[in-house]
Amino acid sequence: MPREVMEYDVVIVGGGPAGLSAAIRLKQLAQANQREVSVCVLEKGSEIGAHILSGAVIDPKAINELIPDWQARGAPLKTPVTEDRFMVLTADKAYSIPNGLLPPLMSNHGNYIISLGNLCRWLAQQAESLGVEVYAGFAAAEILCDATENGGAVLGVATGDVGIAKDGSHKAEYQPGMELRAKYTLFAEGCRGSLSQELMARFNLRDGIDPQKYGIGIKELWQVAPEKHRPGLVLHSQGWPLDSATGGGSFLYHLEDQLVAVGFVVHLNYENPHLSPYDEFQRFKTHPAIRGTFEGGKRLSYGARAINEGGLQSVPQLVFRGGALIGCAAGFVNLPRIKGSHNAMKTGMLAAEAAFAALRENRQHDTLSSYPEMFRQSWVYDDLYKVRNVKPGLKWGLWGGSVHGGLHMWLNDLGLGVLVPWTLRHAKPDHESLKPAAEMPKIDYPKYDGVLTFDKLSSVFVSNTNHEENQPSHLQLRDPTIPVAVNLALYDGPEQRYCPAGVYEFVADEASKGVGTRLQINAQNCVHCKTCDIKDPRQNIHWVTPEGGGGPNYPNM
Ligand SMILES: Cc1cc2nc3c(=O)[nH]c(=O)nc-3n(C[C@H](O)[C@H](O)[C@H](O)COP(=O)(O)OP(=O)(O)OC[C@H]3O[C@@H](n4cnc5c(N)ncnc54)[C@H](O)[C@@H]3O)c2cc1C
Ligand code: SF4
Repeated sequence: MPREVMEYDVVIVGGGPAGLSAAIRLKQLAQANQREVSVCVLEKGSEIGAHILSGAVIDPKAINELIPDWQARGAPLKTPVTEDRFMVLTADKAYSIPNGLLPPLMSNHGNYIISLGNLCRWLAQQAESLGVEVYAGFAAAEILCDATENGGAVLGVATGDVGIAKDGSHKAEYQPGMELRAKYTLFAEGCRGSLSQELMARFNLRDGIDPQKYGIGIKELWQVAPEKHRPGLVLHSQGWPLDSATGGGSFLYHLEDQLVAVGFVVHLNYENPHLSPYDEFQRFKTHPAIRGTFEGGKRLSYGARAINEGGLQSVPQLVFRGGALIGCAAGFVNLPRIKGSHNAMKTGMLAAEAAFAALRENRQHDTLSSYPEMFRQSWVYDDLYKVRNVKPGLKWGLWGGSVHGGLHMWLNDLGLGVLVPWTLRHAKPDHESLKPAAEMPKIDYPKYDGVLTFDKLSSVFVSNTNHEENQPSHLQLRDPTIPVAVNLALYDGPEQRYCPAGVYEFVADEASKGVGTRLQINAQNCVHCKTCDIKDPRQNIHWVTPEGGGGPNYPNM
């Protein structure tokens, strides 16, 4: 069956903050210059916002530039930060760090506590009202490339076929994917986007660039008892339950309507294969300084998502013929601030400006070189430059690294950046950091109490995750022997612990009469966090987009 073809000026893959901001900016420029520009946004979630998981405390810098009257238009930024606390935890104590000791750039005053998913829903409405075509429930599964042009040019993307059974046969409802062809294609897939990874390999966009670094962020949304609710309070912590060799920390944000977002980020360069980021998060909630907030409350939702941590040293080349990487598909998160959405929005806007200028010159399928130039001149670059040594400095451990990073940020904040001119490098990718299980201490995690702490399956249940079961697995093993022969034998099967959704289980292999063991992949539970694609020690897990509309359905994350 031939594929239907649709033509646009610009196709945007991913309806997150980056993609939607790019779409809005394109249409704003078209209106201001009285030109017709056709723009389409593809989103793999069942609706815009369904796959968005963030903290989130947002720096309003980008939205102020994109839609200056956002307040009058009812943007869901309702809770300004009123109190900003940072704590260091030990197993039974909490030490508050006075705000005056923290670098000013870490301050959250002037920011808003929001649901990023709801901001995206609102941005999509703004985009549609400007004439952007937003298609949710459609995953871009294939890059359309013209290999005959010099070095190849991206011509658009194709959505995945729908209605293919597990065995590869066509079901009654089979529909071939659609080709969306564009003069320029912007990839806004967020952290570890699957097509973005392909583009980086195809166009050598990472040549000479440090490896990207990642964390896994696990989050819950709670409705707390009225007397526990302090709207506007932002709380971050470092320390327990992680040991000092493992990077990470918590966030706890009080939004409106008695809602509290609580989450935990574990840096994915951890070494101990016995570590379970999910269980570290569950333990964190039981700390004496934390548990009180949730006692008497109700957990409403759960989810997980990888976050870029590499910063400036890990930003790849942003452009190739026919398109660009924007937002976290490239990786513009400011790690010490745990903020990336303002930079995602701004880079989307910059790429849109570059694409619009090219369209005005009747260009197509060439390189939008003005976008990386504009990035270099923008406040996104400054934002990342000031904190560039914080993450790599963590090689000196949590405390040594924090002192080095703190000093760095202070001097940059005071305009004395010349005193710290060095740029530390990221030595190796996160999948190379695990040590053999036999060399590392086992970790005994407490049992879940069903009140503050929960097992993975009941967590996945409240993420509203759903995949059509009779479809080929979107978690493909490059070599099916590696999970048992390498991962289980050497690392005690770390995928059982780093996957926050219980997708990977080692079970008795019935075919060998229970003697052997095999890896069972419960792909229908996958919350699309991408951790397996990042952390598998042999890079044996290949994450491809499942049928559009599958995955989590986050309400207010
Ligand atoms: C736990 C956690 C806490 C965070 N806290 C904060 C915070 O407090 N403040 C802050 O500013 N930032 C925070 N961030 C970072 C912030 O969420 C990201 O920087 C931001 O979401 C990046 O926006 P994006 O549009 O680039 O990507 P995303 O928000 O990831 O959006 C990408 C979209 O593209 C879709 N998509 C992906 N691939 C495809 C495909 N092939 N086809 C169709 N659709 C596709 C996805 O479903 C998704 O909707 C946090 C991140 C995490 C994980
Ligand atoms: S299978 Fe991979 S992407 Fe899916 S939830 Fe587990 S670790 Fe995340």
